[in-house]
Amino acid sequence: MEFEPVIGLEVHAQLKTDTKIFCSCSTSFGAPPNTHICPVCLGMPGMLPVLNKKVVDYTIKMAIATGCKVAETSRFARKNYFYPDLPKGYQISQYELPIAEAGHVDIEVDGDKSRIGLTRIHMEEDAGKLNHDPDRPVSMVDFNRTGVPLIEIVSEPDIRSPEQAGAYLRKLRSLVRYLGICDGNMEEGSFRCDANVSVRPRGDDSLGTRTEVKNLNSFRHVEKALHYEIRRQIGIIEEGGEVIQETRLWNDTAGRTNSMRGKEEAHDYRYFPDPDLLPLIIDNEWIDTIKKNLPELPGDKKTRFENNFQLPSYDADFLTSSKELADYFEACVKLFPQPKQVSNWVMGSLSALLNAEEKSIDESPVSAENLAGLLTLIDKDVISGKIAKTVFEEMAKTGSPPEKIVEEKGLVQVTDASAIEEVVDKVLSDSPDEVEAYKGGKKKLMGYFVGQVMKETKGKANPKMVNQIIGKKLDSRC
Ligand code: ADP
Ligand code: MG
Ligand code: ZN
Repeated sequence: MEFEPVIGLEVHAQLKTDTKIFCSCSTSFGAPPNTHICPVCLGMPGMLPVLNKKVVDYTIKMAIATGCKVAETSRFARKNYFYPDLPKGYQISQYELPIAEAGHVDIEVDGDKSRIGLTRIHMEEDAGKLNHDPDRPVSMVDFNRTGVPLIEIVSEPDIRSPEQAGAYLRKLRSLVRYLGICDGNMEEGSFRCDANVSVRPRGDDSLGTRTEVKNLNSFRHVEKALHYEIRRQIGIIEEGGEVIQETRLWNDTAGRTNSMRGKEEAHDYRYFPDPDLLPLIIDNEWIDTIKKNLPELPGDKKTRFENNFQLPSYDADFLTSSKELADYFEACVKLFPQPKQVSNWVMGSLSALLNAEEKSIDESPVSAENLAGLLTLIDKDVISGKIAKTVFEEMAKTGSPPEKIVEEKGLVQVTDASAIEEVVDKVLSDSPDEVEAYKGGKKKLMGYFVGQVMKETKGKANPKMVNQIIGKKLDSRC
């Protein structure tokens, strides 16, 4: 029997507001423990939460960007449970009436497009953080994060492979970054994901029993954990067993998931509407104002790149994966209006450089101006494509403009026909055997002669002219 995985993701994105969701404490990261706290976020008796309007603005942005329906009335609810990082004994979240429902995110994996449905997006507050002392049997709690705003984005069980899960997460992260509502950093925990997964016989419509996998701190972890969990579940079924519904933790060192708690131990959160917070009413005017101020979204940008710059879908997708990369590309095209050329260099040499140095496009040692300058030099035949690679490496090391590097290193291409002829003559008279063989029909030796000439000129001879001149000289000898 062939099995099909079914995956649904729950993503928590930390919103980049200056202050917390229900009080005016700072959300800034890295302050000494328990310095960004007040009676409200500590849940002191008599405290009253006041909703931060910016949190709602940001959530509406995300709702619009994912095609969700924004609810005219939504409510905050109390999710009750005990844990030392939760001073109130409940988390304020949204339950029955979330702010947004029924959206979608379009993804593409190896050319296969699919639409992943969003069940809902809701707002909630973050909990505090426990710090476990490695030397003593104590844990200390830091409440700075308590009350930091989060949105939870819940997908429909529409995802069919770990790779699709990765593509979906990247798309969501790209969206929150475009919108400027979250920095999308999985390693630092400002963008978190729990993965629900089950398997079923291919072609079946019903859902199998799922497990929920937590402790996924990078895109790689998500994909690895899902692969593991799918294999584990199929193994159980093939041996005649049954998958049990439970929460499992990914252990990256061991490369496996382990059971954390079963369904029996699952919490009953006793949700009820928070009596301290009024229902949230959002009218069309509010939504329209946000719509008007929305930046160009990745999907629209991609379409524009395909149409205005005649770029293939693959290039457009790559270049619009972040707003910063798209801006870099456009700045470059403005100075050197040959989009496909620019795209090739950005996707090729530049990306390789940034990957190798683990830098983002904002930190690129090669500025858009300098890359455009380099392409202009190639276009004007000042340097060859081959020398351009050398100049690029030098720009990466020094950040100098290409014109300066070319001048200082004497890399200007030789386009003087008589100078090239001289070198060709020398190469041909130094290789009598090869010339004989060529005359005898070994036409492949053309490459050898070109190589020798390029070597003699340290790669500076114009390759097109070298080819022409060698061809002419050899033909006259035949
Ligand atoms: P809970 O809040 O208890 O985690 P939800 O019903 O909100 O449960 O579902 C959470 C996530 O699990 C959603 O993303 C949903 O798509 C996914 N999901 C639900 N059932 C399955 C299943 N059988 N297999 C895979 N994913 C599932
Ligand atoms: Mg869940
Ligand atoms: Zn506070």
